[in-house]
Amino acid sequence: MIHSHFYNKELETLDRGRLRELQNEKLVALLRAIGANKFYEERFRAAGIRREDVLSVEDMQALPFTRKSDLIAEQEAHPPFGRLLSFPLSEYLYFHQTSGTTGRPLIWLDTRESWDTWLRCWGYVYRGAGVTEHDVIYFAFSFGPYVSHWAAIDGARRLGALGISGAGLKSEQRLRAILENNCTVLVCTPTYALHLVEVARRHGIDLRSSAVRISIHAGEPGASLPNVKRAIEEGWGAACNDHAGATEVGAWAFPCTAADAGGIHLNEAEFLFEVIDPLTGHAAPEGERGELVVTSLGRAGMPVVRYRTGDLVEGTTERCPCGRTHARILGGVLGRADDMLIVRGVNLYPSAIDNLIRSLPHVVEYEVEIRRLDGMDDLLVKIERAEGLTEDPVAALSNAFRSQFNIRVTIEEVSRGSLPRYEFKARRFKRVADLPQGSGANK
Ligand SMILES: [Zn+2]
Repeated sequence: MIHSHFYNKELETLDRGRLRELQNEKLVALLRAIGANKFYEERFRAAGIRREDVLSVEDMQALPFTRKSDLIAEQEAHPPFGRLLSFPLSEYLYFHQTSGTTGRPLIWLDTRESWDTWLRCWGYVYRGAGVTEHDVIYFAFSFGPYVSHWAAIDGARRLGALGISGAGLKSEQRLRAILENNCTVLVCTPTYALHLVEVARRHGIDLRSSAVRISIHAGEPGASLPNVKRAIEEGWGAACNDHAGATEVGAWAFPCTAADAGGIHLNEAEFLFEVIDPLTGHAAPEGERGELVVTSLGRAGMPVVRYRTGDLVEGTTERCPCGRTHARILGGVLGRADDMLIVRGVNLYPSAIDNLIRSLPHVVEYEVEIRRLDGMDDLLVKIERAEGLTEDPVAALSNAFRSQFNIRVTIEEVSRGSLPRYEFKARRFKRVADLPQGSGANK
């Protein structure tokens, strides 16, 4: 029997027709609330649309998409916040910014009301994973200026659970805190959960005997990849849960315990979702892979309307065994729309490579260098071998690439501990300078 832990059972099991009515009501209220937002006023006017004419999700199709680059350009043109605020600055209480891994960081402000939306969204995440007010939750995060870290711990407190911050601590100190305080839930990136397993092993600690029973992952995709999930579950002896979110959007997806069904739920009570063909911008047919477009219904303070997340997903509205009616994305976020690699004619996403490498016990850490070679992507995979291993990890991985993707890649073993470890937003795939024409001809 499946145990469904609802945050708001009524909303999570709402008939899809009623759900759409609710979304229409919330959309109209949002557009009314953001009337003083200069950024959207200008965009809607340029598109020839009056806000008051948009009464439903269908009408919304006429509104232009918003891209991250639009938001960043806006903040560059009108520093520091752009004309993105719907209310006077005195209404805002929370300041956060993105990590700026791909350029200038984006600043995001929240009012008390929009912060409440964040905490509600985290409520769905926690309850969906089976967390209750009796849990002790450890946040292995840096708590820099990143909204997800603060929203996650504040959301835990809103739920009534005890939240412990791991800010400013080293991995060993965090492990000790998790064990000594009998933490039952771990929140961190999937990468970092695996790193903690490695550190624990080095210190002779078996994390499976810890009190941790649930892990929830954020900050990067991965926890929905079967092999990453299995590695985390085996290392921690805990149920691994994925969720997805973004600074400018919110925590837009949440897990459920009907694990066999696969995927994570889209929070359709708080957001509007569309899946589009990233090239044409047209709606992708149901079930087909496309880019996720999100409208935050409850975050009027600094709104995003038809926001192109760049995340590739495969959606389904087929009913989940957990009883929720909210749509799911199968396999979580599958990759980034602009991340696709073409390796010797084979289309590959970094997530597929991550999943492959995590299927092998031989490799504890890796890095992939991507070079353009004769117009195609060529991969150099650097790996660190697992401790106590007698098998040749290079041969094993090389065979795995050949049998799974039918491609040959260059694999290089590097000394243990020489590759970077990531706590937040791993950057294992790096584009490096192109190789000279013709240099790969004999490979
Ligand atoms: Zn479900």
